[in-house]
Amino acid sequence: MIRYHDVNGGLRQKYTASFRLDDLGLLRGYGIFDYFLVRQGVPMFWDDYADRFYRSARLLGLEVPIAPEELRQRIARLLEANRERNTAIRLLLTGGYADDSYTPAEPNLAIMQHPMPSVAPERYEEGIKLMLYRHLREVPEVKSTNYLTGIHIRELLKQAGAPEVLYHDGRLVSESARSNFFIVTAEGVLVTPAEQVLHGVTRKHVLELAQQAGIRTEVRDLTLDELPRAAEAFLTSTIKGVLPVVQIDELRIGEGRPGPVSRRLRELWQNHVADYIARHQPFKR
Ligand SMILES: *Cc1c(COP(=O)(O)O)cnc(C)c1O
Repeated sequence: MIRYHDVNGGLRQKYTASFRLDDLGLLRGYGIFDYFLVRQGVPMFWDDYADRFYRSARLLGLEVPIAPEELRQRIARLLEANRERNTAIRLLLTGGYADDSYTPAEPNLAIMQHPMPSVAPERYEEGIKLMLYRHLREVPEVKSTNYLTGIHIRELLKQAGAPEVLYHDGRLVSESARSNFFIVTAEGVLVTPAEQVLHGVTRKHVLELAQQAGIRTEVRDLTLDELPRAAEAFLTSTIKGVLPVVQIDELRIGEGRPGPVSRRLRELWQNHVADYIARHQPFKR
């Protein structure tokens, strides 16, 4: 049972844990976060998520008030208090309490704990549909708390029968609202957009796994024109892992079911996760 969150270094009951109303995160959507899984007590790929969290903060001119080692200690204490070994952690850093409701002040830092998320197994077996939508995330390299477009288009997605979106700028494809996007070309090359995307931790590991498996990879611009010739496509994210995409709007991808490269990478990813758990210890205080 998850009972507590950490707010600025203090454990608080989760339903009453709070920041004040004059926080810029709430007033202006000025804040960053990160989100990772904890499996069998082991925070997964901690170094990658910690790096990205501090980097997102830096890019928005916010200072994380504590060093990574102390952040790690706070996470250890929260995990101990909540006694849940398979779970998710969200780090949240906001613009702080602004006197003029506009200028970033001393950031507030919360560590929230959530139940382990799950994705329905048939999504992996059948693959999913994406809906194209023209949008470029603001400051795409930052994991900001602003998901205005993604949340706003939920009804459109529902009407399209697409669980997720694929953002583009009219020429180039970028990513989904909370996931990175890959295609496998007819020649068997794995391609993912280089720029204007969040640098996903899963994306990074999947690229490395593909290279180790002898799959050619290209991190470059990916145009809308290339989609009709793609043999396969998939999304990657912390929650989804490797999730096959079989349709984009009315375009069927490949055979309309998950292809061999996507299936192989999903398996390599699952082995990689198991391997990481076996080689790492739970955080100690
Ligand atoms: C979190 C996120 C991703 C996926 O990153 P992971 O580190 O693999 O979870 C991709 N795009 C956006 C916009 C995100 O917020």
